[in-house]
Amino acid sequence: MTLGALPSYDETAVDTVGEHAIVIGGSMAGLLAGRVLADGYERVTVLDRDPLPDESIARRGVPQAVHAHVMLEPARSMLATLFPGYLDELTDAGGVTIDTARELSYHHDGGFVADGLASVPMYCASRPLFEQLTRSRAAATENVTLRAETYVTGLASDATGERVTGVNYRENGSETTLSADLVVDARGRTSPVPSWLERHGYEEPATDTVSVDVGYATTRIERPPEETTTMLVATAPPVTQGGAVIPIENDEWMITLSGIHGDHPPTDAEGFIECAEALPVPHVAELLTAHERVAEIRPYRFPSSTRRRYEQLDAFPDGLLVTGDALASFNPVYGQGMSVSALDALQLHAALAEGTDGLQTRFFDQAAEMIDPVWQLTVGSDFAHDATTGPKPPGTDIFNRYMDRLIPTAHDNDYVAEELKRVIRLQQDPTKLLAPGVLARVLAPAWLTS
Ligand SMILES: Cc1cc2nc3c(=O)[nH]c(=O)nc-3n(C[C@H](O)[C@H](O)[C@H](O)COP(=O)(O)OP(=O)(O)OC[C@H]3O[C@@H](n4cnc5c(N)ncnc54)[C@H](O)[C@@H]3O)c2cc1C
Repeated sequence: MTLGALPSYDETAVDTVGEHAIVIGGSMAGLLAGRVLADGYERVTVLDRDPLPDESIARRGVPQAVHAHVMLEPARSMLATLFPGYLDELTDAGGVTIDTARELSYHHDGGFVADGLASVPMYCASRPLFEQLTRSRAAATENVTLRAETYVTGLASDATGERVTGVNYRENGSETTLSADLVVDARGRTSPVPSWLERHGYEEPATDTVSVDVGYATTRIERPPEETTTMLVATAPPVTQGGAVIPIENDEWMITLSGIHGDHPPTDAEGFIECAEALPVPHVAELLTAHERVAEIRPYRFPSSTRRRYEQLDAFPDGLLVTGDALASFNPVYGQGMSVSALDALQLHAALAEGTDGLQTRFFDQAAEMIDPVWQLTVGSDFAHDATTGPKPPGTDIFNRYMDRLIPTAHDNDYVAEELKRVIRLQQDPTKLLAPGVLARVLAPAWLTS
């Protein structure tokens, strides 16, 4: 399977396969999984330990929510499909639509990447707004119930331990069990499913860990309503710091600075601006000095991209699945997490359309195939930095040497820029950059392609 040839969503393709499904975690992955499960289960309950307010505010269980979140194509497309009208609601709530070809300035390796050929809309908003609208639409789904302030303490299983039968949870100080035919774990990157498996006589999944030690620092500034400057400044060796300028609701810009391998941006006002001034382009610092800051500068530290290889296990209990960051969590600078969560939901839909026999195996296998190219793109780019450690996908070094030629070509060649942007937007696999049309332009002498 490739990113360019994914299954499509068709709610009529899923018959009722069970009475009750539980999702643990009501963040993006859990909400999307919950909506998809609603096609196949009579009832779906999404549990989260946090209060889940009607307003779009950052909550404790999602500490990354105060930082810039870019919504790539798969998340945009799945949200629009699962929740018709979602994108209009987003813009009605102050979200900003830009054209990724002409209005997203993408600086990489010494220059801005050319516009490319196709106009593709990108919806910009804060992460709390993305989530709050997703939550309100999931909650409005007839057979989906969201239960806030419900802390799941463990999985319940039958006497043999071969089937998960529900969850144990704490609510208002008392412990209870809630039964279900299927439990989907969407507790994020610290999901305790591996240790639960180990305690119940299963092997833990192998975990691929690629260390990047990324630090974020984020603030928000005032934005004149008609201004929609949107910019991403990528880190490419020897540059270890980058940034993002994202127009969001309430006439604000979210400004995130990031640094890899310990080169973390400071969180004091002066240091933050100095860090922005040191970026390879002046625009971020200029915006920061010209516009009033309206939020404190908040840090976040992300140690490693982590992928749990459930698809490689010989034994796994029935009645349990894992999705979202709990399955694979990517260096956030590439903006992929919400989109991979959306694609997990799409794979869950495709797996349910074939019934529940062997559901785990089919879901984990298909999800792994879909995650492969995204993982390759993320960790492959990170291995361009010598300090990155962990399992390196085969062919990474040679591909990175090719990218050292491709990116400068994309600075002024629209065809190559288009193919690169389609990869970055997760519309196609990175191997598409080796197609003859791209290869010829990248390897040809400049006078031939200009
Ligand atoms: C700094 C940063 C920036 C990012 N930027 C982007 C970006 O630009 N674009 C993008 O697409 N993605 C981005 N991501 C990734 C994105 O945030 C996640 O991939 C996305 O939220 C999906 O995560 P999730 O739902 O699997 O888990 P999470 O968002 O981590 O949510 C887990 C949920 O589980 C709940 N929970 C945990 N334990 C329990 C329990 N015991 N009982 C009940 N509930 C529980 C939590 O309260 C929470 O709601 C970024 C991530 C980080 C860290």
